[in-house]
Amino acid sequence: MSDDFLALAQPGVQQLSPYVPGKPVDELARELDLDPASIVKLASNENPLGASPKALTAIQNALAELTRYPDGNGFALKTLLAEQCRVELNQVTLGNGSNDILELVARAYLAPGLNAVFSEHAFAVYPIVTQAVGAQAKVIPAKDWGHDLSGMLAAIDADTRVVFIANPNNPTGTWFDAEALDEFLQDVPAHVLVVLDEAYIEYAEGSDLPDGLDYLAAYPNLLVSRTFSKAYGLAALRVGYGLSTAVVADVLNRVRQPFNVNSLALAAACAALQDVDYLAQSRRLNESGMLQLEAGFRELGLSWIPSKGNFICVDLGRVAAPVFQGLLREGVIVRPVANYGMPNHLRVTIGLPAENSRFLEALTKVLARG
Ligand SMILES: *Cc1c(COP(=O)(O)O)cnc(C)c1O
Repeated sequence: MSDDFLALAQPGVQQLSPYVPGKPVDELARELDLDPASIVKLASNENPLGASPKALTAIQNALAELTRYPDGNGFALKTLLAEQCRVELNQVTLGNGSNDILELVARAYLAPGLNAVFSEHAFAVYPIVTQAVGAQAKVIPAKDWGHDLSGMLAAIDADTRVVFIANPNNPTGTWFDAEALDEFLQDVPAHVLVVLDEAYIEYAEGSDLPDGLDYLAAYPNLLVSRTFSKAYGLAALRVGYGLSTAVVADVLNRVRQPFNVNSLALAAACAALQDVDYLAQSRRLNESGMLQLEAGFRELGLSWIPSKGNFICVDLGRVAAPVFQGLLREGVIVRPVANYGMPNHLRVTIGLPAENSRFLEALTKVLARG
């Protein structure tokens, strides 16, 4: 028997590449000997406002109980979510970030011999959770950078157990409307769990994006996943949730780590959920920042993929890696997306107005160098 512990890993794991996160500010500061405060990071779709002050206060108040295990059932947060999302408490699953929900789905429903269907240019966590459990990832070519829902339907077979769709999608920002979702859900076989990843849905309110919650009652094979990492500004705490039938939630609860969401995250999420002013401010800031970046790109003669998220992919019309490096030297961190099959694009998170300006100035400078 070989002692090569890479070769001994199950085949799906051997074929994975580790997730590449946005470059941390402190890392770039060390590398270039820069003041961390001078660096602009628009690389991980984080909320530029900082966390809600109400969430910070809730964390302060929860510190006294750090010696205790958290409430493993997350009763307080589930109660608030059930109320806001118009579901029963037993339909809510809490996760250590919504990535945790995606992983729980894979561990509960996928296995060698089974497959998950998702799109090209989709979120990098889908292949990770799928292949980690030895299941096959069926990647369907994108259409105009977005999900080809009919192509995805056609790819579903008897061994398919999960379809991952994100609306809007990350990193492309593309979206589909209610009619497309309706049609898709009607046609997906009943044995396939549809994971509708709505990590950015709070930014899309009032637009033509469907609200996944409206479909839960009609489709027992639907799970909607959401997060506190983006519009709610709590990425560091790792808290997200899934909404599904009580049966699916019960299954996920069986494979969940008993204390997967920590007590500070639970407390902060409860407070953030009730801070409607913060959410409204996040949305407004995102809308104006999106317009600011689009105007900047237009001025530079660059095209972009229209986005409903808090980020936008700009097309540089050439390989983006050197531009990414040039921006780093200007103290601006954005996200290369070559690993998503998009070598000519950079993904830029909408920042504060001054951060967006810094980025556009740096981009202008870097592009002028040729
Ligand atoms: C950011 C993101 C998530 C959420 O990640 P968390 O684990 O909740 O921080 C999920 N799906 C997509 C598409 C994302 O972009």
